[in-house]
Amino acid sequence: MIKKMTEADVKQGLRIVLKKIEDACRRRSPELQALEPQLVAVSKLKPVDLIVAAYGEGQRHFGENYVQELEEKANNEVILEKCKEIRWHFIGHLQKNKVNKVLSVPNIHLVETVDSKKLAETLNKNWPKFGPPDSKLKIMIQVNTSGEEEKSGIVPAEVCTVTNYVLNECRNLHLEGLMTIGKFGYNPEDGPNPDFVCLKRCRDELCQSLNLDWKNVALSMGMSDDFEHAIELGSTNVRVGSSIFGHRPPKT
Ligand SMILES: *Cc1c(COP(=O)(O)O)cnc(C)c1O
Repeated sequence: MIKKMTEADVKQGLRIVLKKIEDACRRRSPELQALEPQLVAVSKLKPVDLIVAAYGEGQRHFGENYVQELEEKANNEVILEKCKEIRWHFIGHLQKNKVNKVLSVPNIHLVETVDSKKLAETLNKNWPKFGPPDSKLKIMIQVNTSGEEEKSGIVPAEVCTVTNYVLNECRNLHLEGLMTIGKFGYNPEDGPNPDFVCLKRCRDELCQSLNLDWKNVALSMGMSDDFEHAIELGSTNVRVGSSIFGHRPPKT
């Protein structure tokens, strides 16, 4: 049985997650202390009233995986009325034929899952038709750090090439950072999560070879089971769903 979450449950869940983030921040090494991790509340398969509840508690960044669901929620009258400053993150696999749907979402803030040059090219080409004049669409490059076939993302060895392409050829995009999902079920007691270590290494190599400041390249890593561990390892963007909104029904 999945317990039906109430608005009060969500507010409490959110407060607990924020407290854990704060505590994890204090356990980080000194050079990471200045970075404040951003919480993305992953609301996929969860109803609008729970999003409004989290928004009412001060949460602004929300993540969705499915294009159609994002479109529906972002255009929902209650959301448009009550959540004017909402910032949507698209965190699912994006097919090129659905790019325009995502770009036309009201308050689209960041596409975290750019997993090919071709997708970057399409986003870059089409953004001016949807975004405010002269604005840039924020994106992250998704890296497949675990090497699992079913996961999307570029291989770590391609990070520099794809980043270079985005920085030099995509004037309508702003590169926020790198993102990984990683293997499920890793036990942090076995040491630092290899996916998080890998993403950080990708960032450090990238910064060295393209002469970028690492503080300007975000790391999106960590979900409900491991966001505290991810923050300790340098995550600046955690995507947390079930710890805030409760367990999800299976997608039908
Ligand atoms: C569903 C999802 C999350 C959140 O997962 P939880 O374990 O519920 O916190 C984070 N990132 C991505 C890409 C997801 O698909």
